Order: sequence, then structure tokens, then C-alpha cells
Amino acid sequence: MSDHIDPEKLNRLAEVAVRTGVNLQPGQDLIITAPMAALPLVRLITEHAYKAGAGQVLPFFSDDAITLARFEYGADESFDKAPGWFFEGMGKAFKEGAARMAVSAEDPMLLADVDPAKVARVSKATSIARKPAMDPIVGFEVNWNIVAYPGEGWAAQVFPDLPVEEAQGKLMDAIYAASRLEGDDPVANWEAHTAELKKRVKWLNDHNFASLHYTGPGTDLMLGLAEGHIWKGGASPALNGVVCQPNIPTEEVFTCPHAYKVDGTVSATKPLAHQGTVIEDITVRFEAGKIVEATASKGQDVFRELLAVDDGASRIGEVALVPHSSPISQSGVLFFNTLFDENASCHIALGQCYADTIEGGSELSPEELKQKGGNQSLIHVDWMMGSDAVDIDGITRAGERVPVMRGGEWAS
Ligand code: ZN
Ligand code: ZN
Repeated sequence: MSDHIDPEKLNRLAEVAVRTGVNLQPGQDLIITAPMAALPLVRLITEHAYKAGAGQVLPFFSDDAITLARFEYGADESFDKAPGWFFEGMGKAFKEGAARMAVSAEDPMLLADVDPAKVARVSKATSIARKPAMDPIVGFEVNWNIVAYPGEGWAAQVFPDLPVEEAQGKLMDAIYAASRLEGDDPVANWEAHTAELKKRVKWLNDHNFASLHYTGPGTDLMLGLAEGHIWKGGASPALNGVVCQPNIPTEEVFTCPHAYKVDGTVSATKPLAHQGTVIEDITVRFEAGKIVEATASKGQDVFRELLAVDDGASRIGEVALVPHSSPISQSGVLFFNTLFDENASCHIALGQCYADTIEGGSELSPEELKQKGGNQSLIHVDWMMGSDAVDIDGITRAGERVPVMRGGEWAS
């Protein structure tokens, strides 16, 4: 581990991830997926998990060099393969009550020099095979959490002017600040933060807007909300009854857009790091919920491949509001990592919706979900379209306009 990573900070991150993030219950198994680079954090998470009474902690590791070796030397037909048996096993563990922790640490530029068509094939095959493991997560059946570790390649991308070990230390400090771990009592920080998010959630649910209208540079978007949509944010109970904080950090309140009622143009306000490519200056135009035009100044091919994965990939499944004054936005750091960048800015997500953002959604069949406007896809990719220049109005069912955000901040 880099000498510049503060071990105290790393330990506190692990403890909060276990106690506040996943909120592991006594006797509950914990499945961790992580890159090898994050081993120091995974070891600490494991310690805290057993201290919290874990049944068994089961880590599964990936490795950047091993991923690259596949693309460099793998036979062509291998790019359509994915280990269904592995994801079925993981899905079975969740059905039997295991909790899930994912550690994000990967180099956002890892696949920059790999053929985007190969990356898209692997991504598609993996998305299909991963469904049994992802369904219990997107359906919020079990408590889960994502947390980050400053891997070398990632740190070098965020702080390119520093020697890599120093960059890792600096990224650790940025993760720590963004994750609201500063001060004497990080658990209390999270309680106060959750209360603030819940206040916004209540205001939005009380208004029960039919749609949101976004205006800003390169953006004029009328975004319909799903029938029976519910705004969510901060800690909430999974269907197994355990209150968890899925993302650390988190600054968003979010709900389900109507997959067939989105019209107009929207421009991204930050680059999107997607599977090793950085996609810049995205602009798309929607018609009846579907993206009918998409451009990007960089990574356009990768972006268009992503939109073509299935029908739902060119529609949206999540809309999220984040004030421009969030600590991540104020840090000025571009993380090239969705877990952080999405929490700096209002965003929408291409692809799969969260069933629990529609009333009774977890009980609905795919066809019923679709009728309410819930989108379905193999992908879920967030991209950022908020800034201090974006205004948002809520449109009530009677057609009245209520200011929701002005200049990127809550209007009331
Ligand atoms: Zn989000
Ligand atoms: Zn999302």
C-alpha cells in the first residue's frame, strides 16, 4: 500500500462501510467484489465485518492486468463469454440472505486502447450473465453498499501531475472528505446528512410532479416521471428489513422517470468514464423517451455502442437531483468514477430502473412496470447533466410550474 494513504482514514472508511453502509447483521454473510488493488481496504472491511458478527466474509477479486490480458490475447469467440455459473451462485447467496459490498478502485482508462467493439461484446455478455446476481440488488432485496479505494491507475488519472503514490494519498483524502468521514463522529455525520436528504425526498413526494423541465446551456428537456414514482435518498430499508446506505458517498435524491415520456435535448456537464473510455461532451435528443440522436466529442463510438445494447439502453431509468454545492462538486475534483461524479451533479441514468422507485414496484411483473413507465435494460449508466447554470421546474398534474432548482441549488 502507498505510504501516502493514511491508515487511520482507511480504517474509518472500512468501519463506516460495514456499520452505516451495508449495516451488516449478526450471522449475515458478506460477499465482497473488489479489484486486487483494493486488498488493504478489503482486509479492513473483513475485520470490521467479523467484529460486527458476520457469518462468513467472501471476497472475489478482479485484476486490471488480468482484464487487459484477456483483451490482448483472448480468442475472438471468447469475447461473448461470461461466467453465468458464478453469477447464479452469487444470486443464490443473496436469495439465502447474504449482503453485498462492492469496492470501486479501477483505472478508468484501463481499456482506453482496447477495441471498443470487443469491450461492448464483453460488456453485453457479462450484463446478461450477471442478471441473477443483479436482480436482488436492483430490486433492493438485500442490504448492499459500494465504497471506494484509491487504486494506482485511478489516482494517476485524477492527479496526473503527482507521483503515483502521492496521488493515491491525495485521492484517499478526497474520498474521505466526500464520504463525510471527517470530525469526531462519522456515524453522526451520516445521520444528519440522511435527515437533510429525507427532507428533500418528502418535499418532492408531497408535490408528486408529473414531470420536470430542465433548462441550461445545451439543455431543454421535458422529463416525465413514472406513474406512482417515489423519490428516495439516503439510508432506506431493503426488502429484508435492514436499513442500509447503498452508496458511500451519496448526495442524491432520485426516482423513476417515465421511459416513454421524455422529450428534448440534454447536454452532459461532466465526462462519463465508462469501461475504460472517457466519453466527453455528450449531447442527446429524446423523442417519446427514446434517444434518437447522440453525439460526443470523444468516445462517441463507445457511447453509441452502449445505447445499442438493447431497447431500454437508449431510454432512461433513473433521474437524480444533487445540489451544485455538494461537497464533491465543491472539491472541484473530477473523479472519473460514477460513484463520486454522479454525486457532484444532477444526473440521469440510461437503462434499468430501480423497481422500488415505483410504488409497489418490486411486486410488479416486467410488463406492469413497463406500463407505469419503468424502463428495463441490461445496463444502468449514470451521466451528469447538472451544473450551476441549470434550472429545474416541477410541472404539477394541473400544469402549474413550481421552481425545484435555480442555478443548480434547491429553490426552497
Ligand atoms: Zn443516481
Ligand atoms: Zn444510477
